[in-house]
Amino acid sequence: MPRLFIAINLPEVVADHLALVQGGVPGARWEARDKLHLTLRFLGELDGGTARAVAEGLAAVTQPRFELGVRGVGHFPPRGEPRSLWAGVDDPTPLHALHDRIERVLIRIGVPADTRKFAPHVTLARLRDAPRGRVLAFLEHHALLETARFEVVDFALMSSVRTAGSSSYRVEQRFPLT
Ligand code: ATP
Ligand code: MG
Repeated sequence: MPRLFIAINLPEVVADHLALVQGGVPGARWEARDKLHLTLRFLGELDGGTARAVAEGLAAVTQPRFELGVRGVGHFPPRGEPRSLWAGVDDPTPLHALHDRIERVLIRIGVPADTRKFAPHVTLARLRDAPRGRVLAFLEHHALLETARFEVVDFALMSSVRTAGSSSYRVEQRFPLT
């Protein structure tokens, strides 16, 4: 049973830009440049039949291509000890539309609904015992982060495999936007 999620992968130029801001926080585990992505929906472990149904359903999703830029930084959870650092997006409207279309597909298939509200972000780092002052300095320093805008031409069904304390991702299938 593969561990699956649905994501938008970032173009090189955007990943390169984000890689440049990754630093300066002791205790941060920075996400590898080639793994930077925006999760549309985490699926978790699905049986083969359900995974195939999801892939088929996703192939039927139609949405026009749209432009996106990565902008600003923040942390999760919003209150309390920060556990991750992320970059936001400049116009989440088309992302929400895509997320809703995907959610409708999943409901039809019977995948349990997402209990969390969709909050589009690109995880930059996981934190452990990061000094609060350094986290705040990072947030301040990169508050005006703005990458090149890019056209989202597809999204992907991804699998995630855990190996020796880290994870690796694989594109299982791409779904072009129209
Ligand atoms: P690891 O958890 O081993 O450090 P990872 O976080 O890179 O690895 P996954 O946990 O498989 O890999 O997560 C894949 C994607 O799904 C990531 O974007 C992650 O933030 C997101 N994700 C993981 N678990 C959940 C969850 N319970 N709810 C929402 N999104 C999740
Ligand atoms: Mg994880």
